[in-house]
Amino acid sequence: MATTGLTAKKSSLLQIQGWGFEPAATKYASRLNVDNKHLKLAKYSIGIGDRFAHQAKAQLQACVQALQNGVQVIPVWNKSNREHTIIGSEPLSVRRAADAAVQVLHWEEPYFCDADHITLQTVDRFLESCDFYTIDVADSIGKPATAADMESFVRRHPELLGRVQLEGVDEQFEVTREHLTRTAEKFLVAVKKAGEVYRKIEYAKGAGNFIPEISMDESDRTQSTMDLLIILAAIADEGIPVQTIAPKFSGRFNKGVDYVGDVAQFEPELALDVAAITYAVRQYGLPENLKLSVHSGSDKFSIYPAIHATIKRFNAGVHLKTAGTTWLEELIGLAEAGGDGLARAKEIYSEAFARRDELCSPYATVIDVDPAKLPPPDEVRGWSSEQYTSALRHVSGTAAYNSSFRQLLHVGFKIAARMGRRYLDLLELNEAVIAKNVTENLYDRHIGPVFLGRAGTVRNSTGRNA
Ligand SMILES: [Zn+2]
Repeated sequence: MATTGLTAKKSSLLQIQGWGFEPAATKYASRLNVDNKHLKLAKYSIGIGDRFAHQAKAQLQACVQALQNGVQVIPVWNKSNREHTIIGSEPLSVRRAADAAVQVLHWEEPYFCDADHITLQTVDRFLESCDFYTIDVADSIGKPATAADMESFVRRHPELLGRVQLEGVDEQFEVTREHLTRTAEKFLVAVKKAGEVYRKIEYAKGAGNFIPEISMDESDRTQSTMDLLIILAAIADEGIPVQTIAPKFSGRFNKGVDYVGDVAQFEPELALDVAAITYAVRQYGLPENLKLSVHSGSDKFSIYPAIHATIKRFNAGVHLKTAGTTWLEELIGLAEAGGDGLARAKEIYSEAFARRDELCSPYATVIDVDPAKLPPPDEVRGWSSEQYTSALRHVSGTAAYNSSFRQLLHVGFKIAARMGRRYLDLLELNEAVIAKNVTENLYDRHIGPVFLGRAGTVRNSTGRNA
C-alpha cells in the first residue's frame, strides 16, 4: 500500500522521547511492554470526522493554523464502523484522504487514522489502514466479574484501600474493601474485553505500531474519579499500554451542540480525573502520555474554558474528539453558496424532517430534538441562504440559531449518503466556500478555546466577525 511508507516515516519521528517510569511502576513495565520505539500520541490532539471524505484538507488547515500560532495539535481522523456502514465507505478511504491532505499541505507532524468505537466483532476491516484504535467496551460495563477475579484484584491493589490522596487536588478518597470490590465487579469484565481486543490488534499490527484508546463513554452512568482510577489499575493489570481513555463524564454530551449540565461542577470533576491519571501513570507504569479523551467533544463551548484551564493547571494533555460538526459545515457551505447548493441543503432538511423518528431513534441518548421547534419544510423552502445558515451555524446567543434543527441535520447525514453523486458533486463544485466554513469552525470555535486558550474570531450569523 502506497501510504505505508509515509506512515512509517512519521513513526520514526516519534521515537525521540522515551517513556518515563517511576520506580513504583517498574514491575508493570515489562508487562506493558512499552519502549521508546512505540508510536506516541502528542499532548494535544483533535479527533476529526470527515463523513464523506472531502474535507480532510480543510480540517488539516485548522491544525496548520494552530501550528503557525505556536501550538502543535495532532490531527486524528476518526470514523466508526456505524458511520462506515451508513455511508457505505471503507476505512481505507479515510487513510487515503488523510494522506492526500498531509501531502498537499506539507504537514510534517504526526497524524493518525482512528478506528472509532471498535469491538472484537468490528475491528477486522480496520486492521490494515488504521494506526489508532478506540476500543469500545461500554457494553460490557456492569457484567458481573467472577468472585475469584474480584478477590485477586483487591488483593493486588492494597494501595486503593483506605485513604487515597491524589497529587495536586485537595480531595481525599476513603475507599472501603466493599467499595473496591463492588467497583471491580462492575468494570473488570469490560477491561478484560478491552484486553482481548487490544491483543487482537497487537497480533495483527505488532506492539507499539498503533495508539490504543479505551472508551467507556457510551454508557448510561457517569464514572466517578475512583471508578476511573480502579479502571486504570485494571487496565494496567491487563497489560494494555493505553494512551487515551474516554470516561463517561457527568452532564450530557449531545451531538453537535453545547454541553448540558453543571458547568461550574465540570471543572473540579475534570481536575480530579486528570489527577487520577497522573496517579495511575506513576503507580502502574501506564504510558506517561496517557490522557483523557473527550468524546462527542465538538461544540461543547461552555466547558472549553474549564478544559483549557485544567490542562494548563496540571500540564496535562487532552484528546478532543469531534466528528459530525464538519458535516454540518458542509451543509452550511452549500446553503451559503446559494443556488443548487441551497436547494440541496433544503431538500436534505425536508427529507430528514419526514424521516425524523427513524433518524433520531438510534441516537436517542445523545440528542435532544424538540419536535415543536423544528421549522416545517414548507417554511424552510422559502428561506434565504442567510436564514438557513444562521439557524444551523452553532453560535450560541444568536436569536436565529435553532439547536433542534441542527441536531436533526446532525443525524441526517444518511440522507446525503443516499444522494450519492448528487450530493458529492455539489461538495466539489462549492469546495472553497465549504472549506472556509470547515476550517473556521474547527480553528475558531474548537482548537482556539481548548488548546490556545482564546476564542477565535467567532463569526456571528451575518458572517462578519463578532
Ligand atoms: Zn465516543
